[in-house]
Amino acid sequence: MTPVENLLQRLEKVKGRNGSWTARCPAHADKGPSLAVREADDGRILVHCFAGCETANVLGAVGLDMTDLFPPDEKRKDYPVTGKPSMKPAFYASDLMRIIAFEALVVQIVAFDISEGKKISENDRQRMKVACERIEEAMRYANVN
Ligand SMILES: [Zn+2]
Repeated sequence: MTPVENLLQRLEKVKGRNGSWTARCPAHADKGPSLAVREADDGRILVHCFAGCETANVLGAVGLDMTDLFPPDEKRKDYPVTGKPSMKPAFYASDLMRIIAFEALVVQIVAFDISEGKKISENDRQRMKVACERIEEAMRYANVN
């Protein structure tokens, strides 16, 4: 069984094929399928919850961890003794764009309230902080800064 098959069999409402799926996110009360799963050419898996769940929480909810996103092949021998992958998973440019666009929308919504002179809630403030961190992280993956 490949890493992606191992993940997909633990998820509900799985749709898709050819290396790209959507499913119910196991880490939050997900009505629509907000979890995107991609399999890279080298077998590594990209997981992204569009409701904002951390990948580690998504995997934890189905009994997996970050190392389960990597194929158990030769490269695994290079990983540090902790078992954690030393390489970041491969992201497609289109996935990065989607993450950046989604988080930019979050920032835009909150920034609009600020520009209107409205007070923003602590929740919104925290969410905007997370969005800024995610954009920064995505930019680092994309090597655009
Ligand atoms: Zn989620």
